Amino acid sequence: MSLPAPGPERTATVPVIAIDGPGGSGKGTVSTALAAELGFHYLDSGALYRILGYLAWANNVALSDEKTLVRLSAGMQVEFRKTEVFLDGRPIGDVIRTEEAGKRASLVSPIPAVRETLLGWQRNQARLPGLVADGRDMGTVVFAQADCKFFITASARARAERRFKQLREKGFNVNILQLFEEIRERDARDENRAVSPLKPAEDAVILDTTNLEIQEVVVEVLDRVKRCLGDSSG
Ligand code: C5P
Repeated sequence: MSLPAPGPERTATVPVIAIDGPGGSGKGTVSTALAAELGFHYLDSGALYRILGYLAWANNVALSDEKTLVRLSAGMQVEFRKTEVFLDGRPIGDVIRTEEAGKRASLVSPIPAVRETLLGWQRNQARLPGLVADGRDMGTVVFAQADCKFFITASARARAERRFKQLREKGFNVNILQLFEEIRERDARDENRAVSPLKPAEDAVILDTTNLEIQEVVVEVLDRVKRCLGDSSG
């Protein structure tokens, strides 16, 4: 990743919508729908940690080897084109979308020096006409000055059911009980880490999607975003 200095946020001129929450809450679907609707750029920050976890695994790098993990994260040439993620100019595809890849991501993501390395690049994605930033710490750390912030959540059971459906549709062979356990483990790791833990920003709108269809959430978020962008530009 060509490294700009971490630098300040540029949200004073570029509208940023921060969408955080645990995996399977629907935040990815909501974020991509929102970006498409508004014509904004989309940052899937989880993909960065997934790619790093994948590279560490593919290169046999131990999780304790922070120096190499930081070097890998600094060298990642990542690009988002619509919802597709490119590494070194090639689409990375579904290898980063498995549960195993999510677990590897959550094992490299607690390392402070890795997060620091990825911070500048993420902030640099705030470009006109605007950015929808999807992750765990968008509203709390990376874009603490974002114009609109959401924390989208759902019960672990509902999220396991959704993930099960999604992964089956992609042709992965999955076990729902195992998924449920993995989701709980990953939540615990993300919520309890010392740096940038998963938690709602104080000024985030919290939406529990357990009993909602994702399309309903998209409509609600879009409605709120139009109001909050209207407020912040006026
Ligand atoms: O959102 P996604 O499931 O792709 O994220 C994978 C993992 O990457 C998360 O479980 C978390 O450990 C890490 N992550 C993070 N900070 C972000 C986004 C993701 O630590 N902003």
